[in-house]
Amino acid sequence: MKTSSAKDLDKKHFLIDTHAHLDMIKDKTPKEVINDAAGANVRYIINTGSDIEGSMKSVQFAKKYENVFATVGVHPHHADTFSSKEILVLENLIKENKKIVAVGEAGFDYFKNPVPKAEQERTFALQIELAIKYRLPVVIHDREAHEDTLRMIKKYSSEKNFKAVLHCFSGDLDFASKCIEEGVFISFTGVLTFPNAKATKEVAKIMPLEKIFLETDAPFLAPQPKRGKENYPSYVTYVAHELALLRGMDFDEIAAATTKNANLFFGLNI
Ligand SMILES: [Zn+2]
Ligand SMILES: [Zn+2]
Repeated sequence: MKTSSAKDLDKKHFLIDTHAHLDMIKDKTPKEVINDAAGANVRYIINTGSDIEGSMKSVQFAKKYENVFATVGVHPHHADTFSSKEILVLENLIKENKKIVAVGEAGFDYFKNPVPKAEQERTFALQIELAIKYRLPVVIHDREAHEDTLRMIKKYSSEKNFKAVLHCFSGDLDFASKCIEEGVFISFTGVLTFPNAKATKEVAKIMPLEKIFLETDAPFLAPQPKRGKENYPSYVTYVAHELALLRGMDFDEIAAATTKNANLFFGLNI
């Protein structure tokens, strides 16, 4: 029987936090956050940009820390100030930085968002087109906007280089199936650990594992044991534990599968 070496085992266990905002964490320095994550075997972090300034910071983190990758994009909360000037800034960042692994977060947010829907859609479309142009995936933010999100996904899903993930997945089984049918991935946060997140748990239990990966959205959405507190990338372990529990699998199997999925999806080459 072939026994796996300690190194193989170690490699198998590690997790990736595919969506965090290091620049928004208040109670710890980025270095502390990254070290704590490494201590919990969360070996890589994808820092997500949500406005122009945040995207620039995201790139700075990726340059400074070996195990941090960046996305650049503008969240629907900031869609009203998005124009050709902003798209050019994002495009230049992409051209200059190899550690940018996606465009986003971009999409629709209809929860208490004063930005008109048409503005959100325009900003989202421009970023999808930018991602396609540079063969990068899109990190989609969808809050209370499933119908419009699916319409946009369908509009672009036949494009050869369209690749997307619905981050912080919050829909039901029907919506998840329709997104996956279009080739879109889904990603779960600490919300998966909330006792009342019944529909989300059902999606996580049933949908194909090869379409799933994990994130924290730190500093937001801390998992149940830390609920209401500041969230950190190391806590993606709670999300992995919950997914393992829901699917009746080992933590290690979940870690290996979700890490593999994220590695391939974002082209991390790790
Ligand atoms: Zn988001
Ligand atoms: Zn986010």
